[in-house]
Amino acid sequence: MIPKQETTTHRHKMEGKLRTPYLIADMHCDTLAKVMKSGKELWERNEEHHLDLPRMKEAGVCCQFFAVCVQEAYRYEGGFQRTSHIFQTFQKKISSEKDIVVVKDSIELKKNIKKRRISAILSVEGGEALEGKIENLLNLYEIGVRSLTLTWNWRNALGDGVGVTDEPKGLTAFGKDVIKCMNDIGMVVDVSHIAVPGFWECLELSTKPVIASHSSCYALAPHPRNLRDSQIKAIADIGGVIGINFYPPFLRSDADKTGAILLDVLDHIDHVVEVGGIDCVAIGSDFDGIDSVPLGLEDVTGLQRLIDGLMSRGYKGIDLEKILNRNVIRVLSLLI
Ligand SMILES: [Zn+2]
Repeated sequence: MIPKQETTTHRHKMEGKLRTPYLIADMHCDTLAKVMKSGKELWERNEEHHLDLPRMKEAGVCCQFFAVCVQEAYRYEGGFQRTSHIFQTFQKKISSEKDIVVVKDSIELKKNIKKRRISAILSVEGGEALEGKIENLLNLYEIGVRSLTLTWNWRNALGDGVGVTDEPKGLTAFGKDVIKCMNDIGMVVDVSHIAVPGFWECLELSTKPVIASHSSCYALAPHPRNLRDSQIKAIADIGGVIGINFYPPFLRSDADKTGAILLDVLDHIDHVVEVGGIDCVAIGSDFDGIDSVPLGLEDVTGLQRLIDGLMSRGYKGIDLEKILNRNVIRVLSLLI
């Protein structure tokens, strides 16, 4: 079956220049691990990855969460060291870059946006990195980490991820302590990947808004990684934000046959707006963490085509900016 025709996708060709004045915040990419593995540098244009500094600038990215996922080899041991090492290496490498800065508080974030520099938010994907110790959460905070995805798909010391299908449980006592501590010190609690029981306990416990950095809508594609309408509504009700994930199987249930296109991402954005309102939707591309992408969003420069698409759906002015960056900036301003 041929995918739906995308009308605006290839209309404009990026020519190394920012076409629109719109800035974009993206709540999830896995580029750091890829950069580490390939030996390429973030400032080198590298078409094998979904994003790099030159293309982020072309696309108008103003804020990018850089996640480090705890890989299987470090699941039970060494997660803290491995994660810290990747972040410290990254920070050292970009310390002389003037176009990108690791941001640790909202004052820096706002200053950076004014200066049109990219704000990098360091984010850990999977509480395995804590190795069961609150002390490691504080250590990660110390080196600049400001966001933690409580679980990946597995069970960990904080709770169960969506991959636990045999009666998933909620948060552990440690998981609850982690959330309380994150609320206290100023870190973003990320509920992407967590199983349903832990999700609800987290929302009840957190005294601050939470994010789902890279999750799409279950109502449109019933995948365990996606959020039910009740979850979308609950995140919206506490002032949180959901970043729509670009992974085709999260966008369409028939993606294995048809793939996905940019219009599918727009459908998910529309759905979150319908269910939770304009203040709770954002972008969480999952670039460099996904092995397929929607047609029209092949890399970070495709985000400019996404803006065209949003405009064609009638989003404009502040509402358009909320989706593209304001919602993320608002929630970061409250949390870090
Ligand atoms: Zn993920």
